[in-house]
Amino acid sequence: MSARLGDDRFAVALGDAWVLNDPVVGQGANLGSRTAFVLADTILALPPDDETFCRAAHAAMWDAARPVVDWTNAFLQPPPPHARELLYTAARDQRVANTFIDDFNDPTAQWDVLSTPQHTAAWPHRVRGDTGRAA
Ligand SMILES: Cc1cc2nc3c(=O)[nH]c(=O)nc-3n(C[C@H](O)[C@H](O)[C@H](O)COP(=O)(O)OP(=O)(O)OC[C@H]3O[C@@H](n4cnc5c(N)ncnc54)[C@H](O)[C@@H]3O)c2cc1C
Repeated sequence: MSARLGDDRFAVALGDAWVLNDPVVGQGANLGSRTAFVLADTILALPPDDETFCRAAHAAMWDAARPVVDWTNAFLQPPPPHARELLYTAARDQRVANTFIDDFNDPTAQWDVLSTPQHTAAWPHRVRGDTGRAA
């Protein structure tokens, strides 16, 4: 998101002013920090002086943010059957439970696991090293 402040001046939003995550899985501050680095990289790659830059910055930041937002929003809905199945599996297998919790610092990977029933079904097999059954 950006705002035109005058003919040749723009403001680019960051942090909660850019995208607001529910605090349910505690991602907002870390995402703000991460997208600040993405914005810095975009400043180094492009002249930061026009609307084209603002659109490029937004697109690069959204690439980083989208899985985090989707992961967060998933916790605001009743869990679908494949997510419930993963919790049942984790309750019976300590390695799966530990890995799921350890990976909370990587919401992009977490969302990849939960985003489709196929990924969710394959993931415990990957954790166990059962590559023959992993997707
Ligand atoms: C209960 C809760 C738990 C959370 N837990 C986590 C967590 O575990 N991990 C995590 O990563 N994130 C967590 N977050 C999210 C995190 O707190 C926010 O994403 C983060 O603080 C956003 O940083 P920010 O700098 O964008 O905005 P803010 O931290 O809101 O900073 C904005 C600042 O601007 C100031 N300001 C506002 N208007 C003006 C004005 N007109 N002029 C001057 N100053 C102004 C405000 O006073 C404020 O100091 C949690 C949030 C909540 C509510």
